[in-house]
Amino acid sequence: MAQVEPIKAFTDNYIWAICNEHDNATWVVDPGQSQPVLTFLNKSNRALSGILITHHHWDHTDGVAELLLQFPNIPVYGPKDSKYEGITHPLTQDDTVTIAGMPFKVVQTPGHTLDHICYINDDLALTGDTLFSGGCGRLFEGTAEQMWHSLESLKQLPDTCQIYCTHEYTLANLAFAHAVEPMNKKLSDYIKWCQLQRAQDLPTLPTNMGNERAVNPFLRSDQADILAHLPASLQSTPNSLWQKFALLRQWKDNF
Ligand SMILES: [Zn+2]
Repeated sequence: MAQVEPIKAFTDNYIWAICNEHDNATWVVDPGQSQPVLTFLNKSNRALSGILITHHHWDHTDGVAELLLQFPNIPVYGPKDSKYEGITHPLTQDDTVTIAGMPFKVVQTPGHTLDHICYINDDLALTGDTLFSGGCGRLFEGTAEQMWHSLESLKQLPDTCQIYCTHEYTLANLAFAHAVEPMNKKLSDYIKWCQLQRAQDLPTLPTNMGNERAVNPFLRSDQADILAHLPASLQSTPNSLWQKFALLRQWKDNF
């Protein structure tokens, strides 16, 4: 099984390195910067085998060109029909790719952007800016309904599936989650654990799907009282789960 290691970039991005000790394969996910990746490779005496892209945003793609100067023939996997033009192997729904010896399925997850894809298997999911720990990506290009469907497709993953997202947004997300569900005991316990991690400058990631289903309000629009504390300014009568999700997303945008 491959190992996944965080490479810190910018102020709160993680570029995940997927490493297979057996054949020394090393892939990186969403390299918004090249230098931290090159430092990681030098330190661990590794060469880069390939790059995975989840969506076109600059903080996920700006490092690719410089990495290709050093490793000119490696594949760059990413979404088909992306605004980012550096993808050598365009992928679409249900394509499969083998990364560092592990098979992944591609799922299209529009919402944050229209091109967003995630790479998933039962053990590991690379969720980019779609699913964060305790939160989800802002809706820059897609609709709330699209994002709700995207999150529902990820929600089918097993409890033990490890979730690797791009940003260390967890504590800010959990502050919102606590406003939504102040009596959620699992959430309160998780907040304490994340605070301890961050106090030691350690990542809160990966998370896992069982935890996210228990604490992440954006995966919990099916809970009867999820809108019990909705601000009066947003009051309306949602008649579907995605409309409840849309209200949560609007609330978070103004939180
Ligand atoms: Zn993004």
